[in-house]
Amino acid sequence: MAEFGLLGEHLSHSWSPQIHKALAGYDYDLFSIPPEQLGEFLQTTPCRGLNVTIPYKKAVIPYCVELSPAAKRLGSVNTMVKRENGWYGDNTDYAGFCAMAEPFPVQGSYALVLGSGGAGIMAARALQDLGAKQVDIVSRHGEVNYVNLNRDADIIVNATPVGMYPQNGQAPVDLREFPNCKGVIDLIYNPRRTKLILDAENLGIPSVSGLKMLVVQAQKAAEQFSKQKIEDSRAKTALRSLQLQMENIILIGMPGCGKTTVGKLLAKALNKDFLDADQVLEAQYGPIPAIFEAKGEEGFRVLETKTLEELGKRSGCVIATGGGAVTREENYSLVRQNGTIVRIVRPIDCLPTEGRPISQTTKLSALAARREPLYRAWADFTIENTGTPEAAVQAILEAIT
Ligand code: NAP
Repeated sequence: MAEFGLLGEHLSHSWSPQIHKALAGYDYDLFSIPPEQLGEFLQTTPCRGLNVTIPYKKAVIPYCVELSPAAKRLGSVNTMVKRENGWYGDNTDYAGFCAMAEPFPVQGSYALVLGSGGAGIMAARALQDLGAKQVDIVSRHGEVNYVNLNRDADIIVNATPVGMYPQNGQAPVDLREFPNCKGVIDLIYNPRRTKLILDAENLGIPSVSGLKMLVVQAQKAAEQFSKQKIEDSRAKTALRSLQLQMENIILIGMPGCGKTTVGKLLAKALNKDFLDADQVLEAQYGPIPAIFEAKGEEGFRVLETKTLEELGKRSGCVIATGGGAVTREENYSLVRQNGTIVRIVRPIDCLPTEGRPISQTTKLSALAARREPLYRAWADFTIENTGTPEAAVQAILEAIT
């Protein structure tokens, strides 16, 4: 058994083992412990260090012989280190949040923190410490709530689970109602870009997602576990490597431009799963030509959006989209939430049309004239697929790493 790990109740999806490995090299286990076994676990575990998550950040306090000033002040422990006389409890979420807030103009600002749970209270304290002029905690049933909150806020922090996997696509507030907003900090890290973050991007408001906090709180915990300073440069590398591992690569482009062939090879090179949106759709709803015949293009697009809604929630995949996926604006956020979007370009005279209902009924040049501007607008970058598929894969690898 590893000497370090994460203590929680239900921990099937956690990225902490990868993060700690990248930060300090040691193995890290997940301990899903039911509440009635918490005391026995803490008294008998051979672990030397633990991180603590929902629902035990308060419950572990009576098992600590000493608390750090941060843990005492916040009434919450996310890091436990075994000392000779017993457990020492600390809170490194605070440092993680401060690192996340650092690029934003907090000094003298008016901040709103959405959610009054442990993370919300911690974020509000940190914003006050960083010099915010006023911080309001917005709570559904509190004095400041979603009906009477002040819309003059400069900084908005999401410390609710709204928009978190699997409830992707929801936002706790409509950012268009906050004309002064200069920064959005979302503590959620799955999906990488929540609806709130995508809305901020759309409105040109600087934003950050919770992945940075997750890595920095782990860095500060790992320093205590390993008794070594972990340089910020190493934490930055760990963050980038986690982003690469978790992100989807979304392939867009004209029908027949090579999304499936290139996608399969790319998935192999990156050790990611490959998903072809058209194939996933056909497996669920039947052959595409038959869908076109029965429901028309509009009926097909509805099913395509449903398929992308599911695929876009996944992480760490290469996803080839159908050529017309870009024709529905709502599909953008579905694939963008966890993805880097790569446009593949191939000369029109090299595009096959067999088995592709739209390519057979529409002149390819007319289709390209309509769609290429959309592909360009969606793409994070474009690669030419004019040589071998391997060369196209190489071009993508160079662009994303
Ligand atoms: P929590 O104790 O469950 O509190 C969340 C608060 O959100 C609740 O107290 C509630 O506040 C509000 N809320 C819950 N459901 C809501 C809904 N449907 N609509 C509107 N508000 C709702 O959770 P927490 O520990 O404070 O964590 C909050 C968020 O931060 C979670 O998404 C968590 O994943 C994230 N987090 C991230 C990191 C990181 O490292 N990035 C670390 C810690 C936490 P009211 O009842 O007052 O409205």
